[in-house]
Amino acid sequence: MKPIADRTAWLKGGDARCETTPPRPTRTMRLVLLGAPGVGKGTQAELLCARLGTCHLSTGDIFRAAKTSARTEQTPALAQALECMRRGELVADATMLGILRERLRCLQCHGGFLLDGFPRTAAQANALETVLKAEGLALDCVLDYELNLEHIVARLSGRRTCPRCNAVFHLTTKPPRVEDTCDLCNATLHQREDDRPESIRVRMQAYRQSTEPLVEFYRERGLLMLISAEGSPEEICERTLAGLGGL
Ligand code: AMP
Repeated sequence: MKPIADRTAWLKGGDARCETTPPRPTRTMRLVLLGAPGVGKGTQAELLCARLGTCHLSTGDIFRAAKTSARTEQTPALAQALECMRRGELVADATMLGILRERLRCLQCHGGFLLDGFPRTAAQANALETVLKAEGLALDCVLDYELNLEHIVARLSGRRTCPRCNAVFHLTTKPPRVEDTCDLCNATLHQREDDRPESIRVRMQAYRQSTEPLVEFYRERGLLMLISAEGSPEEICERTLAGLGGL
């Protein structure tokens, strides 16, 4: 599925501009996706963005895009962030907030946004709240996807991603048309380094410690919507849209 916008501004930051921007939707949605690694946030983000006309703002995708760029383009902070990512650890809040500040334009975009992978800590959630308030913007909803651990491990171990365009596939639930080959750009698919068992363990721990408390943070603000992440990606997407329709 082709993304609605090319996301250059988000992936590169700074002065970079998107070549294609989303058309103005009937309703501009500003959403945050929460959920443990492996619940399928990336896949849902793609499906939801295509349906809602919003842009998929994934912080993990920023790092994955930076990984393939020339070493000389990587600042020391970015190189350190990539090392954290390889181990499955969270990148420092200061780095993440710098990354967000550089991409304020994406939060202001008329197409709205779907934040995936940010915020992941209380400091990031507070910073996002402050930034949005200063811009006169508000979140419409925080979608929290829930799935049991057994399903999560199955999803992570079958996941394959495209190193060129970041498209996400799954060996059983969303196989590529041609084995090991990206449907969108024909690059050879690979397994993310952080989908290896030792990194998965670290990521789950980071989620429990740092990100799970955000569920309460957003519940208190009346923004939280719990969604079961069981079933096919399309079923989960329909469930989500039904929930959002009731807002
Ligand atoms: P994701 O694709 O969202 O699972 O992100 C992949 C990795 O990038 C994470 O395991 C972290 O190492 C790093 N990362 C992405 N977003 C954040 C964030 N908001 N805070 C800290 N680290 C992050």
